[in-house]
Amino acid sequence: MGITDLTSMAEVETEARRELNERLLRLREEASYYCYQCAKCTAGCEAHKLLELEPHRIVALLKRGLVQEMVNSDIIWTCLSCFKCKERCPQKVAPVNILFALKNLAVASGKEVPGDYTAMLTSAMGMGLIQDVQTVTTRGGETRTREGLCLPPISVPTDPAKFQMTVMTVAMEKV
Ligand code: SF4
Ligand code: SF4
Repeated sequence: MGITDLTSMAEVETEARRELNERLLRLREEASYYCYQCAKCTAGCEAHKLLELEPHRIVALLKRGLVQEMVNSDIIWTCLSCFKCKERCPQKVAPVNILFALKNLAVASGKEVPGDYTAMLTSAMGMGLIQDVQTVTTRGGETRTREGLCLPPISVPTDPAKFQMTVMTVAMEKV
């Protein structure tokens, strides 16, 4: 079952939403206590360079309790889940975890997941990669492939259905 089916069949689950709200409250307490808005997270954020996501502002908005506004905003879907903000934070705050919680809340509220994000999730659930192996072109115009760089082939799950079930089980535990 793909992520589209899973999210479209989802009815609004009060219990799941309550748990997500509690998780956000815990993250908010953590952020309010430790985050001093230095913006080091935003300075290193890949999505900030391309898509104007500002993780320090996400933390600030959560501190102010503007959860629904963020859940309704497309900006939460631009996070690349690279975890750089968590690694860079001198206070061990993790804006990426706030963004995960907001995205989960959006899905639990029946909000539509953007198409590109759905494609990425479907790929991750099907073969464990957010996208298929790419051929890239360097700034000098040269083409690079994995084989050309003497890298081994990427392994993909031999039993996609079993792999998908495992991913779903782990994902549900992390909600
Ligand atoms: S790096 Fe950490 S402390 Fe600084 S703004 Fe970001 S979350 Fe807050
Ligand atoms: S995890 Fe998201 S918010 Fe954090 S640095 Fe990466 S793209 Fe930015």
